[in-house]
Amino acid sequence: VLIRGAELEGHGGLDVRVHGDRIAAIGAGLDRDPGEPVLEARGAALLPGLHDHHLHLFALAAAGTSLRCGPPQVRDRAQLVAALREAARGAPPGWLRGIGYHESVAGPPARELLDALLPDRPLRVQHRSGALWALNSAGIAALGLDAGIDAPGVERDPAGRATGRLYRLDGWLRERLDSRAFPALDAVSERLARCGVTGVTDATATNARCEWGALSAAVERRELRQRLLVMGSPELPESAQPRLRRGPLKLLLDERELPAPESLQDAIAAAHRTGRTVALHCTTRAELVVATAALGAAGARAGDRLEHASVAPPDLVEQIAQLGLTVVTQPGFLYERGDAYAREVEPRDQPWLYRARGFLEAGVPLGAGTDAPFGEPDPWQAMRAAVERRSAAGLELAPPERLTPEQALALFTTPADDPGGRPRRLQPGGPADLCLLDRPWARARRVLVRECVRATLCAGELVWCRDDWRVE
Ligand SMILES: [Zn+2]
Repeated sequence: VLIRGAELEGHGGLDVRVHGDRIAAIGAGLDRDPGEPVLEARGAALLPGLHDHHLHLFALAAAGTSLRCGPPQVRDRAQLVAALREAARGAPPGWLRGIGYHESVAGPPARELLDALLPDRPLRVQHRSGALWALNSAGIAALGLDAGIDAPGVERDPAGRATGRLYRLDGWLRERLDSRAFPALDAVSERLARCGVTGVTDATATNARCEWGALSAAVERRELRQRLLVMGSPELPESAQPRLRRGPLKLLLDERELPAPESLQDAIAAAHRTGRTVALHCTTRAELVVATAALGAAGARAGDRLEHASVAPPDLVEQIAQLGLTVVTQPGFLYERGDAYAREVEPRDQPWLYRARGFLEAGVPLGAGTDAPFGEPDPWQAMRAAVERRSAAGLELAPPERLTPEQALALFTTPADDPGGRPRRLQPGGPADLCLLDRPWARARRVLVRECVRATLCAGELVWCRDDWRVE
């Protein structure tokens, strides 16, 4: 493919030849090879394809067939009851699956609440944090949780009866409910391609051999067209495929039950001994304190990551900088959840919420992900939020943390294995992972919407091209 008349890094009138999975040449007035397809860029910006540094592919694919149980679609108890009954009417008998629940809808999620909402069929509802599933009594009975079946993470009352809350049991649930069934990834892949995404990092902590097998098959079959870096458990094998790579060991911290410092330290050291870096999930101030202390004690390595670092006061930012840790943030949450943050996050933590500029100024390498399906799988929305720092209702959140559009773009153009490193550049011999816009960057930077994306090439293949625009 010859992309003609594109703007690269502010320089207009450039042609880019893609051959195989590489960029073969960049220059002005390249001659068209016989039969070579041409994309006329007409002055539009050609960017390195975006990399979403933190999302969850199978959960995202499953979300497409799940009922939304939280804001903005469902805001109160009456709306939730209506949504559940409506979904139950239309669905075949069996489990109903809801996602995105938040306490603001109808209080803490638990058995009694779900029984009152929908008593007559098994129901599971995921909290929007992704940390827990709540089940009604029919669901508890279907799983046998009050009949001898147990797992670490099944919460019980003092009498031993299941409360309906299952913490971090996604893999266990999948095994019991729809065993072999990993959802197909083609629709997710196309949705990402429409946003110019050519690579993703799956940050699911429970990724083990089974998930690896399913992800690797999806890459092999070209069901997932993007390059893929997979985080997960210690048992993940090394990859033999060029488009699939093993990423850091993912360690979850949960404020409800923080691990003993030594055990976390041991897990980090064990990962380092096998040549893997680690990625620690920390969304609260307390989790971040524990994470940095454990990394400090175990000895941090270049490439060790903090996922979210949602509340980062100055003393912790300084420690993060000293340890040389990379932060992978989710600016999209400022827009999507900002109204709840403004109400619920302690005033003393408000200035340190999903920081961006503060990290960059302290010299902390910073990358970003959407955390889809917990956030919208749209890096452009996240970039816009990083620039504007406004909630959906228009509230400003820690405005001094604003980034420029160029800094926001860089959060998504850094290498998969170095989310806070130097943004990738398009150069001859380099991989042809490309995002072609429909306008010059000077105009795109003012709006930062996915509608600017005109075509997406993953490893040299045109995986998405806007309908009204064809390869000539
Ligand atoms: Zn996540």
